[in-house]
Amino acid sequence: MKKQTFDVAIVGGGIAGLSFAYTAAENGHRVIIFEKDSQASGASIRNFGLIWPIGQPAGPRFELAMKSREIWTQLSRKAGFWISQNGSLFVASAEDEMQVLKEYHGQFGFNTKILSPSQVSDISGQVHTEKIRGALFSSVEMTVNPPEAILAITNYLKNLKNVAIKTGEMVLEAGNGMIRTSSGSWKADRIIICSGSVTHALYSDVLKQSAMTVCKLQMMKFKSLENTFTIGPTICGGLTLQHYESFKGCPSIDQLRKRILKDLPEYVRYGVHVLVAQNNHSEFIIGDSHEYGEAIDPFNNADINNLILTYLEKYFPIKKLALTKSWHGIYLKNPGHTEFVYRADPSTFLITGFGGGGMTLAPAFAEQFLSSL
Ligand SMILES: Cc1cc2nc3c(=O)[nH]c(=O)nc-3n(C[C@H](O)[C@H](O)[C@H](O)COP(=O)(O)OP(=O)(O)OC[C@H]3O[C@@H](n4cnc5c(N)ncnc54)[C@H](O)[C@@H]3O)c2cc1C
Repeated sequence: MKKQTFDVAIVGGGIAGLSFAYTAAENGHRVIIFEKDSQASGASIRNFGLIWPIGQPAGPRFELAMKSREIWTQLSRKAGFWISQNGSLFVASAEDEMQVLKEYHGQFGFNTKILSPSQVSDISGQVHTEKIRGALFSSVEMTVNPPEAILAITNYLKNLKNVAIKTGEMVLEAGNGMIRTSSGSWKADRIIICSGSVTHALYSDVLKQSAMTVCKLQMMKFKSLENTFTIGPTICGGLTLQHYESFKGCPSIDQLRKRILKDLPEYVRYGVHVLVAQNNHSEFIIGDSHEYGEAIDPFNNADINNLILTYLEKYFPIKKLALTKSWHGIYLKNPGHTEFVYRADPSTFLITGFGGGGMTLAPAFAEQFLSSL
């Protein structure tokens, strides 16, 4: 590429930036992506890798998630990364959890089944079925291995004739058709800033004055101690029901919330819900917690990890696993919204605040947003 002028410039090489770049490139635009690190380093490589329609309320958001699912499938084929259509399993350890699952299935469960404990064994042989009341299985969730998928999409885009990628380039200024880094300037007809949770570099006043909150989430990775085993669908438990908006419409959810607050106050304090995903290397990704507020502790809290593992032990063979890594991720959440969009000037947009749903929503959101301009 000879010219330094582009149709679209993207700041940020996480899933949001890559999604905008992919759509713009597919539309035939000349695209340039700027990533401040040698490769994407934010929430997009630190998450479970779940494309998770069941977390979205029925209606337009669920449909958007289903559209993203199609885009992820396309991308995995083109960019050559692993994707598994493994579904999700919501395990109920108590009767009030089972009640919420039945209500969800009755009202919104287009792709779901209610399972007895013995039917759970057929789908996921590792769950301690003698300790559960049953489960809900949903067939549409998918899993990717985030660091590998993000790298593969980046490399795929890099090889397209109409895309350039600048890594190790922190954008210092972006607006009015111009991007500036410490090594030069570029012109673009349109600029999309997807800087994730980095709030100090671009439009920091806008971000600080917004209603957005910062959220820190702790995660762990395990390998099996002896023979590897597969879990089938991603597995979560009763705590997850109070986490996702999709279960808000269930008549018994408030009662379940009250019971959890009474019985498990520490879990509520740290916003813990417990999820186990498995990747293509038979590793188990287990998390997570949700701590809100500006004062992010750079160090992880061992108590939180213990809470997660203690909860999981009730229905999952955690003793068969050994911890290999632990980390945390940070995202911005825009309360009441699935993203945050700010138009800085007629051709510059700051788009962040995807909260806990960026992998699930950003690909389809980018497509919808660009086609609306
Ligand atoms: C622990 C955890 C688990 C999660 N699990 C899931 C899940 O399973 N499913 C799901 O749908 N969502 C999940 N999420 C949410 C999802 O990961 C995020 O919503 C999504 O990754 C946000 O993507 P992004 O591109 O906006 O931000 P990021 O991934 O943070 O990317 C922003 C990028 O911009 C770069 N950047 C910032 N400023 C500049 C600058 N000035 N110049 C150049 N580059 C810059 C950064 O280096 C970074 O690479 C999870 C999040 C976390 C933290």
